[in-house]
Amino acid sequence: MNLLLLALLFVSSNVIAQAKPEGVEVRKSSFLLLPASTVERSAGQQYGQLMRAAQQKNALNRDPEQVQRLRRIARELIPHATRFNPNATKWQWEVNLISSKSVNAFCMPGGKIAFFTGILDALQLTDDEVASIMGHEIGHALLEHGRARMSEQVAKNIGISIAAIVLNLGQVSTEELAQAANLAVSLPYARSQETDADLVGLELAARAGYYPRAAVSVWKKMSQLSQKAGKGQPPQFLSTHPANEARIKQIEANLPRVMPLFEKERR
Ligand SMILES: [Zn+2]
Repeated sequence: MNLLLLALLFVSSNVIAQAKPEGVEVRKSSFLLLPASTVERSAGQQYGQLMRAAQQKNALNRDPEQVQRLRRIARELIPHATRFNPNATKWQWEVNLISSKSVNAFCMPGGKIAFFTGILDALQLTDDEVASIMGHEIGHALLEHGRARMSEQVAKNIGISIAAIVLNLGQVSTEELAQAANLAVSLPYARSQETDADLVGLELAARAGYYPRAAVSVWKKMSQLSQKAGKGQPPQFLSTHPANEARIKQIEANLPRVMPLFEKERR
């Protein structure tokens, strides 16, 4: 072996070492029959309708302090979103607060975020904790879990062949899309999707300078709230987001991957 070869080996092993990814590892969604543009347009319409309905009921919260707080946190998380989905640069992000006791928050495909006052009040969320929940919800959107869900729903509901959907989206009515978009935020995601959204949330928060360990306190608070509710009405968010030991352990196991990112941004 000559020196040149040795030098090359050294350089290439160095490159590999440098290329070792920082941050979390997540899976891409696979069942994505509906084009992203269709899904995002439909979700945007659903979101618009929801906000108009909230406004009519005087439930679109305009408390400047709370709304500005949510929007500021979103503005800090969003620049890091493209790491998980390059198309996010084109999204028309929106953040609104709805006055409702419902303990809930979501981000629809295309970056349409809503928080309910119930989740802020019941959990007395700190900024770090808001960033954690928002990051989790944004994670679902970036990994296109909603798009996958809508694709499944449309394929199942309308009972036409998958080929027909792929070849001619004209057969999918606006109503069917709307129904699928609604289901996309109201049904629980698969456990693996929940895990991945947690991981994206951790990394977005860390990169934006929010303490990633806040994710642990969020889920502990959720679980306490659920115990308090007992067999009565469990908080809405918990019906789609089980707060259990396994989830918390998984988050703790991944903290070392994002803490260095946080240390760089520490505020
Ligand atoms: Zn989730």
